[in-house]
Amino acid sequence: MTAELISVGTEILMGNIVNTNAQYLAAQCAGLGLSMYHQTVVGDNEERLAGAVRTAFGRADVVILSGGLGPTEDDLTRETCAKVLEMPLEPDEHTKERIREYFKNSTMGEIPGNNWRQAMVPHGAIVLDNENGTAPGLILEKDGKCAILLPGPPNELIPMFEEKVIPYLQRKQPELLISQMVKICGVGESKVESELLDLIDAQTNPTIATYAKVGEVHLRVTARAANPEEGEKLLRPVVKEIRRRFGTAVYTTREDETLEMAVVRLLKKYELTVTTAESCTGGMLAARIVNVPGASEVFRQGFVTYSNKAKRRLLDVNKSTLKKYGAVSKETVKEMATGGVFASDADACVAVTGIAGPDSEEDKPVGLVYIGCCMKDKVEVEKYQFKGNRQKVREQAVVKGLDLLRRCILESCAK
Ligand code: ATP
Repeated sequence: MTAELISVGTEILMGNIVNTNAQYLAAQCAGLGLSMYHQTVVGDNEERLAGAVRTAFGRADVVILSGGLGPTEDDLTRETCAKVLEMPLEPDEHTKERIREYFKNSTMGEIPGNNWRQAMVPHGAIVLDNENGTAPGLILEKDGKCAILLPGPPNELIPMFEEKVIPYLQRKQPELLISQMVKICGVGESKVESELLDLIDAQTNPTIATYAKVGEVHLRVTARAANPEEGEKLLRPVVKEIRRRFGTAVYTTREDETLEMAVVRLLKKYELTVTTAESCTGGMLAARIVNVPGASEVFRQGFVTYSNKAKRRLLDVNKSTLKKYGAVSKETVKEMATGGVFASDADACVAVTGIAGPDSEEDKPVGLVYIGCCMKDKVEVEKYQFKGNRQKVREQAVVKGLDLLRRCILESCAK
């Protein structure tokens, strides 16, 4: 089956917002095994939108539209698709009731008159309730093809896609698609691809798709099968082989587990506590850990020691170390990590010091970052030279910090 995307909104054309919906939807379609050959961005203009819908419907089996379902005059997606597909709009009592409920349960007061436009749905449409907004999603089926209309805000689109559209698309596929995620940290994308070249070249069923993330590579292994058991049987040996090739660099095979979740899971498993001692990441590492529900069991405090004075006062870093080697050095990060363990009485401390830029310091290049992890009287230190702007350098440092902690736990506990 082929799928095509149409992102609707003048804001996207003007560069006012980043088209993250297209990225998300394209990746989801790939994961579902749908082939995608075209994507379009079109502004809030009825004629051009109608043209885009006609073209897409002429060549794809599934046309996914995002945005333009709102209550205002410039929201044209519903009306335009209804016209192009000749499915006249009619009031939908269920949606009316849902909008009424939505306003009753919110603090938004009276229902503005134009919100009722959202309760007008094309004749014969499948209505997808929106749990996080008023505009319902819509599936319009015609001539064995379908248009799927989704609201623009990602916090409405993503849950609707995952809860309602994926099951619908899976039902439409003649065969079942079963996929398994393998998440890798600490190995670059090109290395991952070259290590898997023989598997990727030979792939027909299952297929392996790679997705590069900040500091991570995610692999989605997807099998087509008549039933779940057969799918599992096809996936198992491929996932096993990937695990064999990448060893502990594979931090999870669970779709919904992030790197920080995997770290917190390991800390809990081995009954360890951790603290953070951060300079250039300014608390980002602690924030990622605290993001995980239940992190309080393993994380009690973190240190943000941006200045040399703070490093000395809170982490007991030696004045002479700072003077001789500088704040961004192997020696300093080592003392930060050890100092963090002492100051907090935690079992482990991850420390980060680096030059996020844009200006270099201490005659050291932007992107130079030292990461240390002190655990059970041992300190591991790694040196990195990251590329990218200030934000990117800091994000990469956080990922490497989490990964170093993960590897230290595995090395000292999982024997
Ligand atoms: P609403 O009911 O909120 O009006 P809508 O379906 O009409 O939703 P739009 O008006 O097109 O959607 O967009 C609403 C908001 O959703 C935008 O201001 C933007 O924040 C977000 N948004 C829309 N399209 C995209 C996109 N392609 N990628 C990321 N965000 C988007």
